[in-house]
Amino acid sequence: MTNSTEDLAQKVERALTFIKNHPDGIIQSELWKELGMDSRTCSRILKQLEDEGKITRQACKGSSYLVTWVKSEKKVDPMLFMAGDALLPCVACTEECDVPSCKMLEDWIYELVFAEME
Ligand code: SF4
Repeated sequence: MTNSTEDLAQKVERALTFIKNHPDGIIQSELWKELGMDSRTCSRILKQLEDEGKITRQACKGSSYLVTWVKSEKKVDPMLFMAGDALLPCVACTEECDVPSCKMLEDWIYELVFAEME
């Protein structure tokens, strides 16, 4: 999508998606052409993404940069799977799953509610 009604947030999202799809990185001077943007807009977008820690820019050939996506490694808090001392049954479940009628999950949710009240 490269229409004139695309706002900056949409351009940022489109640029990030494009960069993610190039795991080895992409040269900045090629990127703005691929995105159908002017170099100034592209630079502004990349500055924003870099400030947010979503990309890196490394100087490379000529006066351009290699733009690379930074995979975020969000850590999951293991305590989210606990209700007091009870581990979420889904973690090690081998049953055929039917969430609405699962007694194990229902019991765990009750444990969670009581653990929250303590
Ligand atoms: S909802 Fe019940 S059946 Fe489904 S994975 Fe969790 S524990 Fe197993």
